[in-house]
Amino acid sequence: MAYVVLARKYRPRDFHEVRGQDHTVKALVNALDFDRLHHAYLFSGTRGVGKTTLARIFANCLNCEAKVSSTPCGDCIACEGFQSGNYPDMYEVDAASRTGVDDMRKLLENVHYSPNVGRFKVYLIDEVHMLSTASFNALLKTLEEPPNHVKFLFATTDPKKVPLTVLSRCLQFHLRNIEPAVINTQLETILAQEDIQFDKESLQLLARSAQGSMRDALSLTDQAVSHGGGSIAIDRVAEMLGTVRTDEVSEILNMLVKGDRRATLAFVNQLSKQAVSFSDLLENLQRTVHELALAQITGQADTEQLEPFIGKFSAEWLQVAYQILVVGMRDLKYAPDHKIGFEMTLVRLLDFEPVTSTSTESSTAKNEQTAKEGGTGPRNQAKTKRDSNDSTHISSDKNEDSPSIQANSNLVQSSTSPKSDESIQKKSPTEDNDSLDREVALQDPIVSSLIKNFGAQIVDIKRTP
Ligand SMILES: [Zn+2]
Repeated sequence: MAYVVLARKYRPRDFHEVRGQDHTVKALVNALDFDRLHHAYLFSGTRGVGKTTLARIFANCLNCEAKVSSTPCGDCIACEGFQSGNYPDMYEVDAASRTGVDDMRKLLENVHYSPNVGRFKVYLIDEVHMLSTASFNALLKTLEEPPNHVKFLFATTDPKKVPLTVLSRCLQFHLRNIEPAVINTQLETILAQEDIQFDKESLQLLARSAQGSMRDALSLTDQAVSHGGGSIAIDRVAEMLGTVRTDEVSEILNMLVKGDRRATLAFVNQLSKQAVSFSDLLENLQRTVHELALAQITGQADTEQLEPFIGKFSAEWLQVAYQILVVGMRDLKYAPDHKIGFEMTLVRLLDFEPVTSTSTESSTAKNEQTAKEGGTGPRNQAKTKRDSNDSTHISSDKNEDSPSIQANSNLVQSSTSPKSDESIQKKSPTEDNDSLDREVALQDPIVSSLIKNFGAQIVDIKRTP
């Protein structure tokens, strides 16, 4: 028997098999079971999220010989016809290849005649937004007063291009991108059924690379199986996708924890030789920092690889790191080459030395105590000190709830944090000196970069004695 690709072999045949579209499925099931049927439906969403699949299942439900319900019998001639993709009252057109008005007229020419064998004539128009204006007008005539035995099902990746006159005559369902976790579980189930060996990390990578599309996930899996000679292994998958492994991200996290600059640069050189995509790596680091920030709140990580890092970074550092990575990603296109852009981003991450969050918690408690006592202790500011090596640290030995920095003994606070009334209203004889210090501080490249890139602002000046 000829090989059938996974995406086709495991295309859902009834609503129970559909993954990741619970809201739409529920609405369709209710419409069928409580006989509240509309004459036109529009399914929108990106490629491979199940638009035509849902439309076909819906059409099958409408025409099952047993009755109209959300659970077609699967045995009757109609159900068999739908499963083999051969049902005389199902008219499926791809608007991308048949955009002309003549095509549309031909399609609708027999619309008023009763169905050949079934209950309904179902017109499924895929990529409906590609139709010409004349075609839409031809369609609209029928759509305004459709015969009772006709149902229209439209699918589109771009609902904004569908005329409002058509949209307003349809029930619209927007299908979501499918969560990587849902894709992961589905891949696990399918590979177990296919008796194909795999490892968890590979599936995570495949599920993530599919970017919300089940079809893409299954196509990539097919590709990974042939690439790996019948089984799926992380090395081959990473190589196939030309992407980074979780290991590589963990390696970088380790170097950040240690603050090991030399090892980091050596590692980047090594990655460069392996032709790793640096933009993928930056994206992965962003995801990882996001996951870590959440894991520090919930106390558990989604992936095992991250567990050793929970609590290793302060909440403030994770915020700053995320910003640095976002800016690094944005600026990648301005860098002479991606390696340079990536290196600079890593060096910047290293310049903000991570600290554990335990000190943050204890200091927060300490400052709440100070506030209760009516003391004017340190405001909500984490400060960054410059050490003798001229590097900048973020430390949490003071109380904080947002990242802020102190460079060259000038305190800079992120604009997103509540402003200290005290520091704004502060008037003192040393004000002139303060503004002088401010200018000096602004000349510091790190301070000015923080202001430019992270919207930080100077709120208080502390002079070194
Ligand atoms: Zn049936």
